[in-house]
Amino acid sequence: MDNRLRRLSNFDVKAYFGNPYRLPACAVERALIIVVGKKKLWTAAIALLVLAAIAAISVAAAYAYSPGIRKVIVIDAGHGGADGGVTGVNTGVTEAEINLTVARLVATELKALGYETVLTRDDEGEAGVFAENDEAALYNKREEMQRRRDIISAADPLCVISIHCNNFPSPSRRGAQVFYSAGSSGGKALAAIVQSALNKLNTEKTGRTYSALGGDYYILNCTAYPSAIVECGFLSNPEDEKLLTDDGYRALLAVTIARAVNEYVSSSLK
Ligand SMILES: [Zn+2]
Repeated sequence: MDNRLRRLSNFDVKAYFGNPYRLPACAVERALIIVVGKKKLWTAAIALLVLAAIAAISVAAAYAYSPGIRKVIVIDAGHGGADGGVTGVNTGVTEAEINLTVARLVATELKALGYETVLTRDDEGEAGVFAENDEAALYNKREEMQRRRDIISAADPLCVISIHCNNFPSPSRRGAQVFYSAGSSGGKALAAIVQSALNKLNTEKTGRTYSALGGDYYILNCTAYPSAIVECGFLSNPEDEKLLTDDGYRALLAVTIARAVNEYVSSSLK
């Protein structure tokens, strides 16, 4: 309060300030009026509030970030480049094409579930293991597989899912089958959950189920991250081939795999 007002409070205030008198503005308001002029007072106040909000969000984001809570999943689409993998018995569709389509759909679903995803290959010649300007990776299988390992190591993921399609001499063999490295307890747990989820599809679509199997595969053994190979079905079987070339079934497969990965991560982080 203005000292003059305080002194006059028991006297005739109206006589001192005139009629009608105005009480003095608070100190902040006076300062703002001095700095920006009264007409711009509200603009300045809003600007200050916006700046304060931005600062608060920035500080919160800085504290929220922690490498320990990154949730990265690597999805490895098998084959690619000069290596198409196995081919469909009727259409000649390549495993490499199916693997990449399913891998992308798995990534999309995992992102929707809040994960970061890294694909070991995406568009051939542009990203990942078949990066542009590197002819060697296209023709040297050993180097290609080492590049997959390097991509996995750099991503530092919670787990790795490698997508493939199967082939068997007997054309009657059907269904999705999951493999893990026998020496990896994390891989075994991951594979069991993914196989269990895929068995619901297997029962419904192919009439049989599988148990996840231990196997000696480079992609499972090349790092210590829990890893599983998903063989999505048998391209040596005409019915499986039909399913694996159907967009709806690919999406169903991908969502099933992604949700099983989420279930594994949730159970392993408890
Ligand atoms: Zn394969």
